[in-house]
Amino acid sequence: MAPLATTAHDPRTAKALQLVAGAGQWLRLTDRETGARFYGIRSSDGQRTYRVTRDGCSCPDRGHRGVVCCHMLAARMVCEAAAAVEGNQARQPRRPAPAAPKSAADEARLAKLAAMIRNE
Ligand SMILES: [Zn+2]
Repeated sequence: MAPLATTAHDPRTAKALQLVAGAGQWLRLTDRETGARFYGIRSSDGQRTYRVTRDGCSCPDRGHRGVVCCHMLAARMVCEAAAAVEGNQARQPRRPAPAAPKSAADEARLAKLAAMIRNE
């Protein structure tokens, strides 16, 4: 897989970093028909939620311009970070990592967001 290509001067990279900072609020969703997994990421105006994977996004930036949008960049960053963490854990078998630090509050927030999307 090609490495992430980012530059500090690219506004999409700056936006992607903002999105990554809020990744705890992304929805982790699975398509019921295909089983495909994707993120639900809120638009910057909060009016819509985009379906985002490493390779695709339902936002206008991706749909109209065909570019790698900030959502896809952010999803790739989070995926690579998660893979790096898993790799580190695999190399330290004698010190099992604690359970994922997802709190009950996080779960409640995700459930609330999912409910909001269903009601749109
Ligand atoms: Zn997008």
